[in-house]
Amino acid sequence: MSTQIGTADVNQAGHLLVGGVDAVKLATEYQTPLIAYDVSKIRQQIHHFKAIFDSAQVKYQISYASKAFATIAMYQLINQEQIHCDVVSGGELYTAVKAGFPIDKVSFHGNNKSREELQFALEHQIGCIIIDNFHEIELLRELTEKSQQSVDVMLRVTPGVSAHTHEYDMTGQEDSKFGFDIKSGQADQAIQQIIATPYLNPVGIHCHIGSQIFAIEGFILAAQKMMQLVLDWKNKFNFETPIVNLGGGFGIRYTDDEQPLQPEVFIQAIIDEIKKIATKNNLKLPEIWIEPGRSIVGAAGVSLYTVGSHKSIPGVRNYLAVDGGMGDNIRPALYQAKYESVVANKMNEPTAQTVSIAGKYCESGDMLAWDQKLPATQAGDIVAMLDTGAYGYSMASNYNRNPRPAVVFCENGKSQLVVKREQWQDMTALDLPLIES
Ligand SMILES: *Cc1c(COP(=O)(O)O)cnc(C)c1O
Repeated sequence: MSTQIGTADVNQAGHLLVGGVDAVKLATEYQTPLIAYDVSKIRQQIHHFKAIFDSAQVKYQISYASKAFATIAMYQLINQEQIHCDVVSGGELYTAVKAGFPIDKVSFHGNNKSREELQFALEHQIGCIIIDNFHEIELLRELTEKSQQSVDVMLRVTPGVSAHTHEYDMTGQEDSKFGFDIKSGQADQAIQQIIATPYLNPVGIHCHIGSQIFAIEGFILAAQKMMQLVLDWKNKFNFETPIVNLGGGFGIRYTDDEQPLQPEVFIQAIIDEIKKIATKNNLKLPEIWIEPGRSIVGAAGVSLYTVGSHKSIPGVRNYLAVDGGMGDNIRPALYQAKYESVVANKMNEPTAQTVSIAGKYCESGDMLAWDQKLPATQAGDIVAMLDTGAYGYSMASNYNRNPRPAVVFCENGKSQLVVKREQWQDMTALDLPLIES
């Protein structure tokens, strides 16, 4: 039996549950720091996205942006759910290949893909390459001519819209390292080059306007700009773009201060806008693609840490130090990201202190969360940071030569290890001794 406290499930022992598994048992079995995913939450999010498109009866594709969390088991899970995925590097693509993911369902992003990466993608019959710049058109022309192989491509464009949480702006985004600028005519020039290149098969246009977006206006504006481009290209180049890909960026709730719109609100608005513009201009309704990352895995992940030292500065602050930190979750240090935390073995105990959770890394900025209201704690307690499933493990580092944590998948009361914990010997695995002369 379990009850819910906030968004967390709790069992009779007063312990946090992740996918029906006691988080304290997870910490004992796999040690800490540990990242535990509730797999059913990932599946539910995907079903949720699909249901919206299905009920709107439009052609669509959901492509998981795997940079949010990419491991072999994750690609396999995404494949079980039969959606597409995006990769942004040869290493992610390699992982998808190793996972047996169907590579014809992979889109390849990046503003500086190397020749080796593109070649690897072509060798594996990549689903689609999302071309970012003129250098890439040239590289792909050479590579496809050499192998006499056609490839589907999309063009990444910057529609001049950028969105940040509750705001959007219509000028800033032109100044971006990604994509072809529409306003200055770069996008027009790029599509003409691609149409004229025998082995490149243009199938769509792509934009990505930001991340952790809460405001719908940015997506609507982006949809308008993209449809305008479809119309312009039909008129100018007699080319009607079959796919409009609006990227990801759907915001999730990390703390009570944040009240993101449900994905259905964003997606319904995007669908309605695209339909409206297509009808008005006598365009075929394009296939609509989205690329959610954070909104698929963020809320499914929990980071478990063991409490160690404690420092109280009277009248200033209480610090609670845990056995992880910026090496397994750099978002608080990098972006001032906020999280909520609980004490996994004391879920039913009353709040007794306000503490800030410090990591173990040698940086003053290595803080995981500020001013958390927690029950009384002592060394050995298990702190759980909630909603850490996106851009935590995928940004992990070995700073201070700390091994990266293990990752487990939990579902229906069972857990399985999906990434082993690194060991100290892994820290020197690539090192070579000094050659004495
Ligand atoms: C990062 C990224 C995404 C996913 O963004 P989220 O905020 O995680 O949804 C989608 N598309 C592109 C091109 C990206 O770079």
